Amino acid sequence: MRIGIDLGGTKTAGILLADDGRVLADRRNPTPVNRGYDAICDNVCAMVRDLEREAGQWCPVGVGTPGALSARTGRIRNSNTTCLNGRPLREDLAQRLDREVRIENDANCFALSEAVDGAGAGHRVVFGVIMGTGVGGGIVVDGRLLPGRHHVAGEWGHNVIDPEGPACYCGRRGCVETLLSGPALAGAYDPALSTDIGDARAIVSAYEAGDERARAVLERFLDHFGRAVATVVNILDPDIIVLGGGLSHANALYAHGPDRIARHVFSDYFDTPVVRNRFGDSSGVRGAAWLWPAAPTNGAA
Ligand SMILES: [Zn+2]
Repeated sequence: MRIGIDLGGTKTAGILLADDGRVLADRRNPTPVNRGYDAICDNVCAMVRDLEREAGQWCPVGVGTPGALSARTGRIRNSNTTCLNGRPLREDLAQRLDREVRIENDANCFALSEAVDGAGAGHRVVFGVIMGTGVGGGIVVDGRLLPGRHHVAGEWGHNVIDPEGPACYCGRRGCVETLLSGPALAGAYDPALSTDIGDARAIVSAYEAGDERARAVLERFLDHFGRAVATVVNILDPDIIVLGGGLSHANALYAHGPDRIARHVFSDYFDTPVVRNRFGDSSGVRGAAWLWPAAPTNGAA
C-alpha cells in the first residue's frame, strides 16, 4: 500500500492505493490557499495520517502538484498556487511526516499513472500529454519516470513551434501552450473567449456538429498539434502517446491527430497509437501514489 496526494490549487485529494491498483480509501478537501503555506502542509499531513490510520500500517507517500521542482534547489517554481513557489515542499513534508516524500508535477504524475496501469500499460516508452488550461507532458520508460538532468524531460509545452505566434507568459512567442491549450483554442475562435476550458470544449462540440467556423479553427489546431507532437516523436519516438486534460475529450485528436503528426515525422510511416487516458482526473493522485512502485511479483510486470 502507498498513499498518493494530489495537491491542487483548489482541492487536495488523497488515496490509499493497493499494489494491484485498487483504491482502498480516498479523501478530498479544499486546499487552504488563503491560509498560506503552513496550513497547506498541515492539511496534506493530516490527510496522510488519516489514510494511514485507515491502512493500519506505515505507508510511503507521493505528492503530485502543478508547477515544477527545481533540479538545483529542490524548491517549487511556476506553481499557480503561488504560496508554494520557492518553498522546499518536499523537505518540509518529509520532516513533518518523518519519512522520505516523493514529489512530482501533475503532468509527470499523469504520465506515470497511465503508464503503470492506465492506457499506456504494457508499452515501454510512454509520452503522457496534458492539454487543458496549460500544456505539459511527462515521459515514462519501463514503468519509471524519466525526470531528466534539469527535471524538464517531456515539458514540450514551451517548445516554440511558431516564432511569430502569440506571446507566452514564459517570455517566448508561439510556444506549444499558446497554440494547444484550451484557452488558446477558445481564443482562436473568438478572442473574447479565452479563459475557460468549457469554452474550448464548446468549440469542439460545435466542430463535431458541423459548424464551419469551428472547423477552420480546429483544422489549424490539428495542424499545430501534428507539428508539436512530431518534434517530440523525432527525439523520443515513444511507443504510445496518451492524452489527458480538458481537451483530451476531443475525438478529432484521435481521428485526425495521427495523420497530422505523420506529416512531420522523419519516418516512412507513423503508427504510434494516440489514445485517450484511462483514469482522467484520478491520474494525478494515482500517479503520485505510483511514485512508490509495487514490488515485482514472480516475473509478472
Ligand atoms: Zn512559453
